[in-house]
Parts: sequence; structure tokens; C-alpha cells
Amino acid sequence: MQHLAGNLFIVSAPSGAGKSSLIQALLKRHSDMQVSVSHTTRAPRPGEQDGVHYHFISVDAFKGLIAKDEFFEWAEVFGNYYGTSKSSIRDSLSFGIDVFLDIDWQGARQVKTQEASAKGIFILPPSLTELEQRLNSRGQDSAEVISKRMAQAHSEMSHADEYEFLIINDNFDTALVEFERIVLAQRNSYSSQASKHSNMLKQLLAKTAN
Ligand code: 5GP
Repeated sequence: MQHLAGNLFIVSAPSGAGKSSLIQALLKRHSDMQVSVSHTTRAPRPGEQDGVHYHFISVDAFKGLIAKDEFFEWAEVFGNYYGTSKSSIRDSLSFGIDVFLDIDWQGARQVKTQEASAKGIFILPPSLTELEQRLNSRGQDSAEVISKRMAQAHSEMSHADEYEFLIINDNFDTALVEFERIVLAQRNSYSSQASKHSNMLKQLLAKTAN
């Protein structure tokens, strides 16, 4: 993907670490940030809306999108397919909007190979006990799904060292401040500034050279 003006962030965590809540809280504070809405073959949870939380589609439709090369990345997670469509991020980035990809470590690896400037942020819970409590109190998944997710948590967390940034979500407000700090600091990285202000930099550097 060429001429990105917005920054691309990959946000991963084991289920229940607070990833979605942190992303939503940050989006409320900044109108120039967006989360990409993924496609999935899993069934909607109570309260989840098609086109808002996910694009809920059939396995056949998902495979059709893979065949048409519509996905920027996709992976099988917990027995369901999940994927980020190219169109869901391209326009936002070109308009200078920072985009969050709420995806797993497999997707993160694919994104990194295609878009080296993408930055990974991993969110950890303070303990396994706390993680299990959060999954239970969410009341959205069956006991069977929760125990499966706890088993997957270790595997997801073992990839935390593949990310540039790490947030421990013990206190939500503290974690939110840290999240915001990472995203805002990234806007001032040389590469991000250079893609936003390429003409201005050219002029300044030309003058400096004379
Ligand atoms: P959930 O079913 O709890 O919404 O999501 C399960 C896992 O799938 C989470 O780790 C989430 O980050 C990941 N996931 C959601 N959307 C995508 C996607 O588009 N691509 C990939 N690779 N993972 C995703």
C-alpha cells in the first residue's frame, strides 16, 4: 500500500484483556482515529450488530472473498474465520486517519510483511485469574467457550514479544492513557511526519542545502 498518511496499528490481546473497550474509549476522544470492522464467520454475540462490530458472513462468502483477494489479512481463530478487508482500511489511511486493526497474532504477522510501518500494540491482563474473572463477568460466552478461550490465552500471549508496544491493563484509566500516548507519539515519528508533510520537508531541506 502506497502513500499512507494515517498510521496503522495492530492491537492484539487474549480475549478479555480489555482490548475492545480500550479501543472504543480512545475513539471517543479522537475523531481522526478508526477501528477497522472485520469480517467473521462466527455468530453474533448478544448486542453485536452487523456492520458495526463485524461483518457477519457465511463460510462460503468468506472463502469467496479470499478467492477474490479482498483480504489484507485473514486467519482462523477459535474455529472461525476472521479477516480484514483491504477496502476497510485503504480509504481511512489515505485521508490521514489512524486505523486500529483488532486482530490476532497470525493476522499481525501478515500485516507486518505487507506494511512494515504498521506498529503492534499488545495488551496483557494483570493475571490469569483476573482474565478468567473478566471473561465470566462479561456474560457473553458459555462456560465451554470460556475454558477454550483461557486455553488459547497462553498461546496468544506467547506472541507478545513480536509487538513494539506492551500495555498491562490492570487499571483501565492508566491503560487508556498509555494507549493514547503510544498512538499520539507515533504521529510524530519521522516516517509518519514525512509522509504527511513531504512537500514541506522537501522545501525546507532544499533551503537548508543552499
Ligand atoms: P472475538 O470472537 O472475541 O470477537 O475475536 C476473537 C479473536 O479474533 C480476537 O483475538 C480478535 O482480535 C481476533 N480477530 C478479530 N478480527 C480479526 C481479523 O480481522 N483478523 C484476525 N487475524 N483476527 C481477528
